Amino acid sequence: MNTTHTTATTLGMRQTQLFTKTRKQAPSDEISKNAQYLIRAGYLHKEMAGVYSYLPLGLRVLDKITTIIREEMNSIGGQEIRLSTLQDQGPWSASGRWSSADVDVWFKTELQNGTELGLGWTHEEPVTNLMRDHISSYRDLPQYVYQIQTKFRNEVRAKSGIMRTREFLMKDLYSFSRDQEGLDAFYDEAALAYMRVFTRLNLGDVTYKTFASGGAFSKYSHEFQTLSDAGEDIIYVSKEKGIAINKEVYTDEVLKDLGITRDSLVEEKAIEVGNIFKLGTRFSESIGLTFKDEDGKDQFPIMGCYGIGPNRLMGTVAELHSDEKGLVWPKSIAPFKAHIVRIGEVEEVVAHADALYETLTEQGIETLYDDRDVRAGEKFADSDLLGIPVRIVVSQNTLTEGQLEVVVRATGEKKMQTENELIEELSE
Ligand code: ATP
Ligand code: MG
Repeated sequence: MNTTHTTATTLGMRQTQLFTKTRKQAPSDEISKNAQYLIRAGYLHKEMAGVYSYLPLGLRVLDKITTIIREEMNSIGGQEIRLSTLQDQGPWSASGRWSSADVDVWFKTELQNGTELGLGWTHEEPVTNLMRDHISSYRDLPQYVYQIQTKFRNEVRAKSGIMRTREFLMKDLYSFSRDQEGLDAFYDEAALAYMRVFTRLNLGDVTYKTFASGGAFSKYSHEFQTLSDAGEDIIYVSKEKGIAINKEVYTDEVLKDLGITRDSLVEEKAIEVGNIFKLGTRFSESIGLTFKDEDGKDQFPIMGCYGIGPNRLMGTVAELHSDEKGLVWPKSIAPFKAHIVRIGEVEEVVAHADALYETLTEQGIETLYDDRDVRAGEKFADSDLLGIPVRIVVSQNTLTEGQLEVVVRATGEKKMQTENELIEELSE
């Protein structure tokens, strides 16, 4: 018996043990491509409009995305925390963001005694508040803390599948610096780390650092916008400079400021996958977070916030890396690296496919094994829909030839390989 288990962390999975089924049709009210494919392939379950559950294959993809984000945030000095979802009114009243009239995305609930609580839709207030226990001197700064945690937002519209939902993961990082220079330097480093995340997800070529409105403290904030017709935003892209301008700040004044001419820009639809923002002392002042500087004087830390949406990124990859047959995952976040598709139930074919599955997983190669007794056509269609980067066909034919038929999902390239050649390639 094989010893692998069907959980998000294991190397191998047999499809006869995978409880999810593929389906021909997405729910009729599902209009977005990302959710249609992800539901049909059994990655997701739609609970209601704007709310999705993640099934084994979907969770594997999401976990890989968050792992990449975590690695990049750790690489710039981020310390991971996990803040509560239930929110006490105190700090939010202090900052002026408790009222649902001011913040229309709040979900609120209450305790048995009637006390109102909120479900966190962002976390500037609680993180600033908790830092009052830990930051008191200039020696305590800078600090960079982040979390990957569920946010709740009562979004008016939910039409973009998992790209805009009412319950979603956010990686939110908060920086606390002594001075403006400290913030500026970290902000630039964070922007580079963001681009590394997008590059690792195969979105680097089509994701632009985009100038957006900055609020009271700085002229601009920056969004990271991935070009896609499925996007809800309009941006103006300078291919030459590798940057873009959001429609909301697209004025003559801003163009002049950035040294860009109108005719060098192309209007594009885009998905906002991330957002970085200089907050200044907006929250440290209102919530009362101070530190003593070198002269013993009280100062407010200068803050920044940095958000990325892992679910929205997964949806974005599904939109961009898919074709008419289904999903086409980049290797970095595919639920499995290899998909063994066994054709036929003949004893020696079964034995061969079983052995290959054992070998690949023993070699540390994440492998999904289609060991189901169903028609070849159905297996190939499912394999295309699932979108695992490399398909390995094991059949009476390949057995006779003494080689495996290997198909690259992204290109359709087909080749005959020995087991050793295959392992070498997959181990790269
Ligand atoms: P949008 O303008 O799309 O509503 P936002 O400005 O409200 O986004 P932020 O508050 O900056 O978004 O959140 C940081 C990141 O979290 C976004 O860049 C996006 O990737 C993700 N995100 C925001 N709202 C949602 C949502 N409703 N569903 C999924 N991901 C989201
Ligand atoms: Mg929003």
